[in-house]
Amino acid sequence: MNYDVIIVGAGPGGIFSAYELANAGRGLRIAVLELGRALDKRCCPIDGKKVKSCIRCQTCSIMSGFGGAGAFSDGKYNITNQFGGTLYEHIGKTEAIELMQYVDSINLTHGGAGTRLYSTANSDIKRMCLQNGLHLLDAQVRHLGTDINYVVLENLYEELRRKVDFYFETAVESIVRTDGGYELCAGEKRFSCKSCIISVGRSGSKWMESVCGSLGIPTMSNRVDIGVRVELPAEIFAPLTDELYESKIVYRTQKFEDMVRTFCMNPHGVVVNENTNGIVTVNGHSYEDRSRHTENTNFALLVSKHFSVPFKDSNGYGESIARLSNMLGGGVIVQRFGDLVRGRRSTEQRIRESFVTPTLAATPGDLSLVIPKRILDGIIEMIYALDKIAPGTANDDTLLYGVEVKFYNMEVEINDRLETRCPGLYVIGDCSGVTHSLSHASASGVYAARQILKKSGE
Ligand SMILES: Cc1cc2nc3c(=O)[nH]c(=O)nc-3n(C[C@H](O)[C@H](O)[C@H](O)COP(=O)(O)OP(=O)(O)OC[C@H]3O[C@@H](n4cnc5c(N)ncnc54)[C@H](O)[C@@H]3O)c2cc1C
Repeated sequence: MNYDVIIVGAGPGGIFSAYELANAGRGLRIAVLELGRALDKRCCPIDGKKVKSCIRCQTCSIMSGFGGAGAFSDGKYNITNQFGGTLYEHIGKTEAIELMQYVDSINLTHGGAGTRLYSTANSDIKRMCLQNGLHLLDAQVRHLGTDINYVVLENLYEELRRKVDFYFETAVESIVRTDGGYELCAGEKRFSCKSCIISVGRSGSKWMESVCGSLGIPTMSNRVDIGVRVELPAEIFAPLTDELYESKIVYRTQKFEDMVRTFCMNPHGVVVNENTNGIVTVNGHSYEDRSRHTENTNFALLVSKHFSVPFKDSNGYGESIARLSNMLGGGVIVQRFGDLVRGRRSTEQRIRESFVTPTLAATPGDLSLVIPKRILDGIIEMIYALDKIAPGTANDDTLLYGVEVKFYNMEVEINDRLETRCPGLYVIGDCSGVTHSLSHASASGVYAARQILKKSGE
């Protein structure tokens, strides 16, 4: 199985690499190897009835398969250099934005037309935030919604499968350098190629680390974000979400001068489990289709931690905290804000009597037994700060789910072509440690593909 280019991973990074290469009209032989299933075969067993919480499938359908971790996401494509990754450090700010706009245009022509593009430009909310010690980051946000995002993926697959060979349920185990390129091994199968793009996302972080070790590619430790997912009545955040959809707000705590920030805001959305390498954490998304709207809005409040010397395993630290919550709660823990500040656990009864109905069946418990004091103090401080711009945020019945952990891959050494020190081997998307969003991962895919096209045309 000989190819010009092999892409490992069919998440947004891999898909947009394949799209760019396949549509270049060069007649390149391209393959995508993906350990998960095809889009229509991806199915999480949690149905809310027989299976209520994560049963730790060997291959997580939420994280793996065509569409990658983004397949059932909220489909928020943030067009900005202010968050979502540091792609601009490699390719420059202007090109990074142009590529994100290019990705947006492809999404629109593949089913996303008619979805709304929100913007922070000229928003009064920015001033209101500043007056209350909060900082609103600048961005344009295309909100596809989970449903339209899925349609876009279906359409992209329909187009790509004619031009690209997809191998699903094919986990690449090793990559070896050969005279003319690379040989990839997946079980009994052997694939060879001249150029290889690795885009295995966060779920492939451990494997990526082993590949870097075996090929002598240097890596650096990265940060981990730890916090909670907040869920409250949608009306409370409506003044922000109606105008901006997603607002990325940063707050510096008075107590420790730590930065706490909002992340992944889902108006009328649902809170969901996320399984990363067997550890259950919390996440959220929402649908564009109004009939699937809930009465709640959810968003994460996160604090970044980066360890370097002598301990440098930031992800390991985050994993330990998530494991603790899994140990105490059998998965994700939910607590009313009022119970947290009164120093008592939430119980089934307190949650039942709450005016906010949880959208995720989590275990009522006590987050202060799980989340380090410094981080939790920062989160509580920020909830009171947000209460000034969105009164009601600090209500007793506001629900906090924990823990939310954003694992970042270690940073892989890549040059400004996103190529490693092994010629023809590119590392893109979240597994590079450079991106951590749909738009940045997709843009990096287009960029790496263009580098390969440029090289093969020379
Ligand atoms: C629930 C949820 C909601 C999210 N919502 C948003 C959002 O609204 N906006 C946003 O910007 N970001 C969001 N994100 C993050 C976003 O999904 C990721 O940043 C993005 O998917 C990264 O793309 P990627 O291609 O780098 O990796 P991924 O999407 O993780 O794709 C990597 C693929 O590689 C495969 N793989 C791994 N190892 C191997 C191997 N050894 N062999 C073969 N294949 C392998 C995996 O199965 C996976 O399908 C969300 C994430 C989750 C989990």
